[in-house]
Amino acid sequence: ATMPPLLAAIATAGRHGVLVKSAVVLEQLGGVTRVAFDKTGTLTEGRPQLTGVYALPGADLTEDRLLALAAGAEQSSEHPLGRAVVTAAREAGLEVAPGQDFVSEPGRGVRARVQGRLVEVVGPARLLDGGGGSIREVVAGLQDGGHTAVLVRVDGVLAGVLALAGRMRPGAAEAVTRLTALTGTAPVLLTGDNARAAAHLAAQAGIDDVRADLLPADKVTAVRELQGAGARVAVVGDGVNDAPALAGAHVGIAMGRAGSDLALDTADAIITRDDLTAVPAVIALARRARRVVV
Ligand code: ADP
Ligand code: MG
Repeated sequence: ATMPPLLAAIATAGRHGVLVKSAVVLEQLGGVTRVAFDKTGTLTEGRPQLTGVYALPGADLTEDRLLALAAGAEQSSEHPLGRAVVTAAREAGLEVAPGQDFVSEPGRGVRARVQGRLVEVVGPARLLDGGGGSIREVVAGLQDGGHTAVLVRVDGVLAGVLALAGRMRPGAAEAVTRLTALTGTAPVLLTGDNARAAAHLAAQAGIDDVRADLLPADKVTAVRELQGAGARVAVVGDGVNDAPALAGAHVGIAMGRAGSDLALDTADAIITRDDLTAVPAVIALARRARRVVV
């Protein structure tokens, strides 16, 4: 039996590594005019690496102790940065004591009680607003090199900085080139990370339009803005801190392997392989399928 064109296209998309959840989604994919990528876990691989541990003299903790405390606080974290911290501590042979009273603030960081101490692991923006001095330079240097810097605070005292970096996902630059050609507009990068760190990575991927320091709700606002300007927007994300943006887009595309369960549920389409060229591939396919139907 021959399949209707849309269903045939969905089957083809599946073979190319994109699970398209319905025929309606395929039609919407065909109409996409702007693509927005999340950074951590999406443009970069889902498993960033810890690249440095810097203990500050004031808190009087060794680097190992600092890392172990941070890992304890991050133990229940679903965030790729949190997982990287836990993995690095284990690989260093450190004992990671589980954190209690774990609180995750999406787009900001986590805090928990670890061995009786209140440990916070958070992005640098807020904490450095009120000063920071030399630490600010350390953080800026790391960010200029494309590292994500997070601060560790122990019992209210700034105790150290952790540097993390994720490798670019395969096909990122090629996906950006192809999407620009397909839609006539370059993709945009939405990130909760700092502008310096984001710019470094965006440049490698060929993305000029970078919107940084966004909380999950700000990502939704950014998508609305693009939509308000007339774009039909696809958001590609891993569901960590971008689930609302995925839901608010015309089409939400989740990274299947690294993605959270929530993302897989709410997304309209799921990329089941590691290569970001799957995004332009499925949009091109959806357009052709549309043309056949019309
Ligand atoms: P992205 O938009 O790049 O995917 P997120 O919105 O997930 O990034 O996170 C934004 C920033 O919030 C991170 O760069 C980091 O500074 C901070 N952050 C979020 N979650 C955590 C966590 N679990 N541990 C440490 N820092 C975190
Ligand atoms: Mg992310």
